[in-house]
Amino acid sequence: MSTPHKTDVVIIGAGPVGLFAVFQCGMLGFRCHVVDSLGEVGGQCVALYPEKPIYDIPGYPTIDAADLIVKLEQQAAPFAPVFHLGEEATGLKRLPDGGWRLTTSAGTVIEAGAVIIAAGAGAFGPNRPPIPGIEVYEGRSVHYMVKRREDFRGKRVVIAGGGDSAVDWALSLSDIAKVMVVHRRPKFRAAFENVCRLEQLHAEGVLELVVPYQLQGLEGADGQLTAVNVATLEGTVRRLEADALLAFFGLSTDLGPIAQWHLELERNHLVVDPASMATSQPGIFAIGDVNAYPGKLKLILTGFAEAALAAHAIHPILRPDTALHFEYSTTRGVPGGAPGGV
Ligand code: FAD
Repeated sequence: MSTPHKTDVVIIGAGPVGLFAVFQCGMLGFRCHVVDSLGEVGGQCVALYPEKPIYDIPGYPTIDAADLIVKLEQQAAPFAPVFHLGEEATGLKRLPDGGWRLTTSAGTVIEAGAVIIAAGAGAFGPNRPPIPGIEVYEGRSVHYMVKRREDFRGKRVVIAGGGDSAVDWALSLSDIAKVMVVHRRPKFRAAFENVCRLEQLHAEGVLELVVPYQLQGLEGADGQLTAVNVATLEGTVRRLEADALLAFFGLSTDLGPIAQWHLELERNHLVVDPASMATSQPGIFAIGDVNAYPGKLKLILTGFAEAALAAHAIHPILRPDTALHFEYSTTRGVPGGAPGGV
């Protein structure tokens, strides 16, 4: 076993909520280590929709998802979090002193007085269409997310799926690419205004709706697509000449190793006390998309508030002899920032 890192709090997940938890813990004087299986911070915001504007972050009328993550990193930076990126949290064991020992896929060992699980949907991955041989094209001309919109300029792009991601990207790419949207039903399950706009663009000949069809096969060589074959349930087949396929069939929500940690689960989410974000194990808290309680809203702003609740609930565990006097950030200030004070 490698020499354990010792810290106050270990946070699993460097998505928006995990990053804000670093800040909240820091404000109460706790040092944090953060583990994420992705190679960069940002969770869904960076992995799935970095260039999309978010409209419901308080104080930002609009902010691109990747920019929000940059701001959250800046906000956490004064508290010097230690990141372990590209490492999956695999094992969690209780220590005799009541703390926890976390181990990662890279062999890193972290001992902490408390654990915050901010693992979103788990170490997530896309639902792949069941097309034999698709893996040859993945990452080159078949994608499950758009990292850079500009990569598709001037290309023939087949977008498969009928939800928000498929519709949003069809609208977004329609002015720089030839877009064909394949969906197995005529009805799309996305925001009403966006579906209306999609149908209008189809009527105007700006993009093509290929419905009701489903993906059948791919043509190409060396990872580069030349055509996508689609078929109706009745067996009518069409060949769509294409340079790229964007398949949006949702994410698989596999909690992975976390599901084996003897924490109470409800439909693949960690059950928490809504007053404290405490899970069924003492010293382990769950915040953000990963948790479940009555009235839960899977929103970034909800996760931010949960991070504050968890940090406060951790205080008596880590500092049992010190009373927590509630302070505003304006009163206290942050390290390296302008001093607080009223
Ligand atoms: P995530 O962002 O999912 O991050 C969790 C992190 O944990 C991931 O990086 C993952 O790799 C890591 N992880 C999981 N398991 C492990 C493990 N065992 N070991 C190590 N790391 C692990 N929300 C809004 O509020 N407003 C919006 O407008 C909005 N738009 C959206 C648009 C799209 C297209 C999508 C997909 C989502 C949108 N959301 C929006 C939802 C928002 O992105 C999520 O609510 C938010 O990302 C949840 O943050 P999180 O930190 O809880 O989890």
